[in-house]
Amino acid sequence: MQAVLLEEFQEPLTVQDVERPEPEPDGAVAEVIGCGICRSDWHCWQGDWDWFGYRPDPPHILGHEPTGRIVSVGEDVENVEEGQEVAIPFNFACGTCDLCRNGRENICENHIGLGFMNQAPGAFAEEVHIPNADLNAVPLPDDIDAESAAGMGCRFMTSFHAMAHRAPVSAGDDVVIHGCGGIGLSAVHIANALGGNVIGVDLMDEKLDRAEDLGAVATVNAQEVDDPAKEVRDITDGGADVSADALGIATTCQNAVNSLRKGGTHVQIGLTTSEEEGMVSLPTDEFVAKEIDFKGSLGLQPSRYSEMLDMVESSKLDPTALVEDTVDIHQVPDELAAMSDYNTVGIPVCNEFSN
Ligand SMILES: [Zn+2]
Ligand SMILES: [Zn+2]
Repeated sequence: MQAVLLEEFQEPLTVQDVERPEPEPDGAVAEVIGCGICRSDWHCWQGDWDWFGYRPDPPHILGHEPTGRIVSVGEDVENVEEGQEVAIPFNFACGTCDLCRNGRENICENHIGLGFMNQAPGAFAEEVHIPNADLNAVPLPDDIDAESAAGMGCRFMTSFHAMAHRAPVSAGDDVVIHGCGGIGLSAVHIANALGGNVIGVDLMDEKLDRAEDLGAVATVNAQEVDDPAKEVRDITDGGADVSADALGIATTCQNAVNSLRKGGTHVQIGLTTSEEEGMVSLPTDEFVAKEIDFKGSLGLQPSRYSEMLDMVESSKLDPTALVEDTVDIHQVPDELAAMSDYNTVGIPVCNEFSN
C-alpha cells in the first residue's frame, strides 16, 4: 500500500509502497478515509519533541488524525466490526492502568502516540492499525460520515477536551485563544459553542477573519499592538477567564497567561518547538497573586468522544467548517513543507490514498 514515509528528519518526505498492516489479537485495521494534516506531523518530521518521546526511528509513516472503515479485526476484539466507520484518537490507551480506569485514557501510563512512536505507524497510508481496538476505535454515529469526521482529528478533539473539560468554559466566560492555526480555530469554534465570548489573537489577518467566521467576538493582531495581553485585558475589562496557548511558543504562552483576570485559568494546548524544548519562563508570582491555574491538555479520552459527537450531531459543532482543503496522498509532503512558513489556514485533510 502507499504511505507517506519519514526517512530522515527534515529531509523531503516521500510516498512509498509499504506492507499492509495485519491486526494484532486485540487490534483492528482500518482503511483510512480521511486524515488531517497537522503541525504536529511537521514537528515530528523536523525531529522536534525528542523531549516528549515523539521521535520515531525512521523509516516511519506519519499521520495521526484519521477516520476510517474497519477492514479486519483481531481474534480478541469484541466490540469493533468489519465495515464500521470509526474515529481514531492519536493517543492510544491500554485500558487497564489506573489512569485509564479512572477515565483519563488520554494520559494513559502506556500511551502510544499514533504516527509519533515506533509502535504505531501513522495514517497517511491506505490502511492503519489500531491497537486495543475495543477502546481506541470510536464508532461514529450513523449520521456522521467518516469523511466529514476527518476534520475532528487531534486539533479538534484536543481543543474540545481543553475547552470543555480542562478549562472548562461556561456561559459568558471571556476566552482568549492565542494562535489561530487549526487547533486555535477549533478552540475558537468550540469555546463559542460552549457559550464563551471568544477573542482570537494571531499575527495573520486571514486567520483572524476565520476566527470571526467561527464565532470570535473580537480579534487582536499581535503584530499591530505593543502588548497583545494588555489589549485583551482592555477588551475584557480586566482580563479573560480562560486563556489558551494554541501554538506553543514562548511568546504566545506568556501572552496567554498575561491575558488572564484574577482567578483565571490558562490551558496549554500547543507543545513547544525546538526553540523552547519544553521550557518557557512564566510570571510565577502572578500565579500566586492572582491565583491563576495553569493546566495542560492532551487529546481527548475515547470514552468522552460521545460528548463531542453529540454536539456535532446537533449541529452545535461543525468539524467541516475548519477543513480548508482536501488533497491526495501525493500532496501531503508539500502540504507539510508549506507549514515551515506558518501560513496554513484551517485544516487541510488528505482523503485520497490509493491513486
Ligand atoms: Zn492506560
Ligand atoms: Zn494533529
